[in-house]
Amino acid sequence: MSLEEILKNKLGKEISSASDAEIYTALLNITKEKMEGMEHNTGNRKLYYISAEFLIGKLLSNNLINLGMFDEVREILAKNGHSITAVEEVEPEPSLGNGGLGRLAACFLDSIATLGLNGDGVGLNYHDGLFLQKFVDNKQYEEKNPWITDNSWLTRTDVSFEVPFKDFTLKSTMHDIDVPGYHQSKCNKLHLFDIDSVDESIIRDGINFDKHDIGKNLTLFLYPDDSDEAGHLLRIYQQYFMVSNAAQLIIREAESRGVDLYRLHEHVCIQINDTHPTMVIPELIRILTQQKGFNMDTAIDVVRKTCAYTNHTILAEALEKWPISYLEKVVPQLLPIIYELDARIRREFSDERVYIIDNQNRVHMAHIDIHFGYAVNGVAALHTEILKNSELRPFYDIYPEKFNNKTNGITFRRWLVHCNHELSEYLNELIGPEYMDNAENLEKLLAYKDDEKVLKKLREIKKDAKIELKKYLKHTQNIDIDENSVFDIQIKRLHEYKRQQMNALYAIYKYKEIKKGNLPKRPITMIFGAKAAPAYTIAKDIIHLILCLQQLVENDPSVSPYLKIVMVENYNVTKAEKLIPACDISEQISLASKEASGTGNMKFMLNGAVTLGTEDGANVEIHELVGDDNIYIFGKKSEDVIKLYETGSYCSADIYNNDPEVEELVDFIISKELIRIGDPMNLCRLYKEIVNKDWFMALLDVKDYIKTKEQMLNDYEDELAWSKKALVNIAKAGFFSSDRTIAEYNNDIWHL
Ligand SMILES: *Cc1c(COP(=O)(O)O)cnc(C)c1O
Repeated sequence: MSLEEILKNKLGKEISSASDAEIYTALLNITKEKMEGMEHNTGNRKLYYISAEFLIGKLLSNNLINLGMFDEVREILAKNGHSITAVEEVEPEPSLGNGGLGRLAACFLDSIATLGLNGDGVGLNYHDGLFLQKFVDNKQYEEKNPWITDNSWLTRTDVSFEVPFKDFTLKSTMHDIDVPGYHQSKCNKLHLFDIDSVDESIIRDGINFDKHDIGKNLTLFLYPDDSDEAGHLLRIYQQYFMVSNAAQLIIREAESRGVDLYRLHEHVCIQINDTHPTMVIPELIRILTQQKGFNMDTAIDVVRKTCAYTNHTILAEALEKWPISYLEKVVPQLLPIIYELDARIRREFSDERVYIIDNQNRVHMAHIDIHFGYAVNGVAALHTEILKNSELRPFYDIYPEKFNNKTNGITFRRWLVHCNHELSEYLNELIGPEYMDNAENLEKLLAYKDDEKVLKKLREIKKDAKIELKKYLKHTQNIDIDENSVFDIQIKRLHEYKRQQMNALYAIYKYKEIKKGNLPKRPITMIFGAKAAPAYTIAKDIIHLILCLQQLVENDPSVSPYLKIVMVENYNVTKAEKLIPACDISEQISLASKEASGTGNMKFMLNGAVTLGTEDGANVEIHELVGDDNIYIFGKKSEDVIKLYETGSYCSADIYNNDPEVEELVDFIISKELIRIGDPMNLCRLYKEIVNKDWFMALLDVKDYIKTKEQMLNDYEDELAWSKKALVNIAKAGFFSSDRTIAEYNNDIWHL
C-alpha cells in the first residue's frame, strides 16, 4: 500500500477533507507503528544515558526525516491542500528540559541511534515540565505547561518498579519514546519514569503547588522552585526516583541478557549527565551488596568501572551539594553507603578538597562521580582545560587518566535539514548529500567561497528564512519585523553570565546614537529569547529591562524606523528552529571562562550566521576553525577573568565612576524615559546590581563589545564579503555534528 493510501485509511476519509489535527494524529500513529516494528540496536555493551532533562523538541518531522518519509509526506500533504508546517503546529512541544544540557541529551540520542549504537536514555516524565513563559506588563510570569495529550509519542509499558523512600514506597511506570536513527533500520528508546498517582489538579495560580505531597507532585515539574527546604527535598525525591528506576532497569535487563553481575561493567555503561543522576552510584552499590551478595570492595569496583560523568559547568551554584540531613529525610538507605565512600576517600587522601562530605555535612555529588566513576569529561576544549587546571585541579592531580574532553555537538537532522530545508537542499545540489553521513564533507563548500552566484544564493536563502520568521512572529506575537534589516539574535536561558544585560546596554547605546542623529546604515532588529528561573530575581529584572526597551523604541517614531527590539515569548526548541535560520549576527557573549561550551553557537554557525563572541566555550574552537576573518571576537580572555576572580580585583563601580560613556549607558536604566514605562523597583535593583556588583563583569567588556558590533554592522554592508563569511561558517561547522561527538564518546569512554 502506498503511504498516501495508508494515511487515507488511518484518517477514514479523504486527506483533503481532514483537519490538520486529524492529519497530525494519523501521521503520529503511522510513525509510531512503523517504529514499533523496528528492532532495538544490539551490542555487547549497552549504554544508559541518565539525564534529568531531555529537551527533545517536537518529534513528528524529525522522526519522518530519520525514517526517510519526510519528503513523501510533504508532497502528499501539498497535493491534498495541506502544509506540513501547519500540521507541525498541532504538535505540542514536549516540556522535558530547560536549556543546553537537555538539548545536548536530545541531540546525543539522535546520534547514538544514527551511529547504530546500543544506547537508551533514562529520565523522568514531567507532566508540566518547565514552565510556560508569559509577558504581562513587561514582566515574566510562569504558567504550567501541560504537554501530554491522549495521543502522544509516549508509550506506556508494563515495566514498573518499587522505589523505597524513608516513609513510603512509590510504584513507578515506565513510558517509552522511540528514537529512530537517520536512515537506520533499528531504533533505541528514551525511557521516562512516572508515577500513576501524579495529580495536576494540585497546581494553583501559576506554578504553585503543595511541595510536600510527593505522591501527587513527584513528576509534575522539572526543577521545582528550590528556594526553600521542601523544594530541595522534592528535587532529591525526583533524583532518587530517577536513578532507583534506572538501576533496577539496568540490572533487570542485564540479568535477562544472562550477564554475570560481577562483569556488569563489560556489558553496561552509565553516562551521568551532570550531577543530577549521581545517586545511581551509591544506589547500585546498595543493590549489589544488599540484594546480590556482593562484598563492598567488589561492588565499588564494578560500579566504578561502569559509570562515567560529564561536567557541564564551573558555576559553583550548579555543583550540587546536598546536606546530609536532607538525604536522611528522603533516602536514609543511601547514607551508610555514602559514609563508606567518604571514609575510603579520607583514608586514601589527606586533601580536604576531595572529600565527599565536607565540614558542613554536605555531600558533594560531583566528588562521588569523580572518585567512583572511570571517566570525567568536560564539554569543550577550554572548559576541560579549566576543569583540569583550576576547578577540579585536586582531582586531576589524583586521576589525570580519567579526564578527557568531548566538545559538544548538535544533530544536523534537526538543526539543518529540518529547520532550514532550503539551505540543506541547496547544499545537496552543490556538494552532494555525503555531508549527511560524514559532516566534515561540508568543507567541500569552500570550493565556492569566491563564486558570486553561490554567495548571492546564500544571501537569498537567508532572506527567505527572514521572511518566514517575519510571518511567524506576526502570526504568534503580532510583531512586525523588517526582513531587510540586519537580524541580531541572542537566544538562550537568561543568566547573568550569558550577559543579556550587556546586549541591553548596546540597545541603549544604539537608541541614544539614533536620538543624536547618528543613524545606522541599515535598520537593526535585535531579537532576544530567554526564560529566567522563577526565583532568579536579577534575571527577571533583565527581562524587564529588555521588554521596557522594546516598548520605548517601538513608541518612539524617531527611533523605530532604525531599531527594533523583540523579546520572543516562551523561547523553546520550536522557536529556536524558526529563529536560527534567519540570523545574521549570533550573540555568544558570555563572560570568558563561564560558558562551558554552548551549543546555540554551533546551530547558528551551521545556518550561516556570523558569531559575535568572547573567547569562551566552543567559541574558541569555532574561532580556530573559521579563522579571524570569519568571526568577531572581543573581550577579556579567560585567564584574565580567572585572575580577576582570584584576586577579587574587579570593581564595576570603578569603571562606572571613571568612564562617562559607560556611566551614561548604565544611568539610562533608571532614566525618566524608562521609569515611566517600567517598574522603578525592578529597574533600580538592576541598576544597583550592575554598579555595585556586576559579578559577571558586563562593564568590563561593554565598550569592546559595542565597538566590535559596530564594526560588524559596517562589514555587513559589503554583501559579498559577508556572504563569504557565512559560507565559511557553514563549511567549517562539520566538526560540531553530534555524530562526531558521539563517535568520540564511544571510542574513548563507552566502547559499546
Ligand atoms: C540550543 C538550545 C539551547 C542552548 O543554547 P546556548 O546558547 O548554548 O545556551 C537552549 N535552549 C534551546 C531551546 C536550544 O535549542
